[in-house]
Parts: sequence; C-alpha cells; structure tokens
Amino acid sequence: MSCKVVLAQGISTSYREELKNTIKARNIRPKLVGFLANEDPAAAKYAEWTAKTCAETGVEFELRTCARNDLEDKIIEANQDAGVHGIMVYYPVFGDRQDQYLQQVVDVSKDVEGLHHKYIYNMYHNIRFLDAAKTKKCIIPCTPLGLVKVMEYVGVYNGILPHGNRLHGRVVTIINRSEIVGRPLAALLANDGAKVYSVDINGIQEFHRGVGLQLKKHEVTETTLKVEDVLPLSDVVITGVPSPTYKVPSNLIREGAVCINFSTFKNFDGDEIKKKAAIYVPAVGKVTVAMLERNLVRLYDYQLQDRES
Ligand code: NAD
Repeated sequence: MSCKVVLAQGISTSYREELKNTIKARNIRPKLVGFLANEDPAAAKYAEWTAKTCAETGVEFELRTCARNDLEDKIIEANQDAGVHGIMVYYPVFGDRQDQYLQQVVDVSKDVEGLHHKYIYNMYHNIRFLDAAKTKKCIIPCTPLGLVKVMEYVGVYNGILPHGNRLHGRVVTIINRSEIVGRPLAALLANDGAKVYSVDINGIQEFHRGVGLQLKKHEVTETTLKVEDVLPLSDVVITGVPSPTYKVPSNLIREGAVCINFSTFKNFDGDEIKKKAAIYVPAVGKVTVAMLERNLVRLYDYQLQDRES
C-alpha cells in the first residue's frame, strides 16, 4: 500500500507556529470568547481543542457556558465589550432557524467563524475583500477554509497557476451539502476553478465556473448523476456524513485520489481506502481550530485599524 496518511496535527503546525510567532513578536493578546449552550460532546471536545491550541499560541480563550435562552443576551454583552476581539458559538444550540438568527446576532467585526451574512454573501459571490482598497480580506468560515488549507498542503492546489484559478482542471466530490460546511466549501472550490460534484441525501449538484473558467464566480446546475457516476471521475473526495454507519464505497474511488474526511465519524473504511487513495486525511478538526485563531488575529487587526482611523 503506497497511500500516505496525512494528519491534521501536521497540517496545522505551520499555521500554529506562525500565529505563535506573530502574537509574540507583536506583543498582543487577542481574546476569543466561546459560548457553550448545548450538551453536545462533540462541541465540548471542540472547545477543549480550542482552549489547548489558544494556550499554545498565546490567544486568550474564555469558555462561557450558559442556558440557551440566555445566549442572545450574553452574545450582545460580548459584542459591546472592547476587550473581546472574537466570538464563537458551539452549534447546534436550538437546532433550527433560531441558530441562524443567533449567527447574525454576533457582531460582524467579531465573527471569527465567518457565519455572518456579509461574509457568506461575499464568499458565494467571490468577493474576496471587505474594502475597495483591498486591504481587508473577507473572513471565510473556519471548516471550509480549513479544508482549503488541507488541499493546499497535500498539493491539490496548483501553485504555478494564478491565485483564484489554482484548482482549474480538478474534479472534486463533496458528500455533504450543509449550510455550515458542504455548500460553502463547494462554492469556494468552484470559485478557485474546480468542477465540484456536491452530493447530499437528495441528489447531486455541479458547481463550476464554466469551460476555461470564463465565469467570474461559480454557477450551480442540477444533475441526475449518482454517487457511482461521480466518484470514479474525482481527483479529490471530501466527506462529512454525520452517521457512524455511512461508508464511502472504496471500490468506486479513483486510483490515486485524495480522500479527506471531516465528519466526526469515519466515513472511509481505513484499510480499504488506503488500497486506492494516494493521500488519506482521516480528520481535519485541528486545522479548523487553527483557522479560527487566524480569523481572530485578522479581526483583531481590523478592530485596531478601525479605532485608529
Ligand atoms: P448536517 O447534518 O447539517 O449535514 C449533513 C449533510 O450530509 C447534508 O447535506 C446531508 O444531506 C448529507 N448526507 C447525510 N447522509 C448522506 C448520505 N448518505 N449520502 C449523501 N449525503 C448525505 O451536518 P454538518 O453540520 O455539515 O456536519 C457534518 C459532520 O461534520 C458532523 O459529523 C460534524 O460533527 C462534522 N463537522 C466537523 C467539523 C470539523 O472541523 N472537523 C466542523 C463542522 C462539522
């Protein structure tokens, strides 16, 4: 078996080192507040990693637990506190549209997760900067951004092509089309030039920028394709199905593909996938946390610039 297994810890190292050096050299102390208002063990684990990584890099992290009905007031309090530079919430809280409302309550200038409508809109429309002078990059949601960094690390992005076109010619299947990860990820990768098959429980959509990347931002078309049609065509297969029993059929994976799992559950059969894939990334959580901190430092700087201007 010649498959290379690439761990998130290794991928996140350079980002964590860069953060640590920047924070130390500039003698700053950005503060991130995480709100935990659910009983989800995955959220508690994520909070644990966040605390650990923040301690290593020099970010001040405070976990605030509260009843879900108090969360809105607690977020507003943190929005108004100049000593808090970034805010994140461990979702799901209510598990319905109220969670989308809460995402908009977090002030846009402190939204480290990049879930505010402005960031999401800009991402879907391939608008990369917040200002006309192009000094402030948009905040990208952490898990999709982390997956982009994983793909850069393993060499799916082609560095000799210009930024914004570096996935030209790549075919990617993403099995998950949630609003938090799968759909934004499909848009980001298609905006960077990939042809993306976005699979969910109801069917497959294609995200692309057309032949020769003639479109400025991606477009989406419905297909009648099935998983068995798209997997053999895909250079990269990314999966995030939240089920312990779901397995991507290894026999359909293209020889030499890059296979990445972001689900809490193992969506690939580890032994079988290693017989087909060239690169297998079994989890990405640590890269997500590194992106969270990177977004925090960016927002810290924007807040500083706004105070000085
Ligand atoms: P979700 O429930 O909102 O979305 C699941 C998606 O998978 C939906 O699009 C659904 O249609 C699709 N799906 C489900 N079963 C399928 C099947 N059999 N075939 C094809 N598509 C199917 O979940 P989510 O918030 O996107 O989270 C998904 C997983 O990713 C969870 O395990 C979550 O814990 C994990 N997650 C990881 C990170 C990280 O940084 N590692 C971040 C966020 C979420």
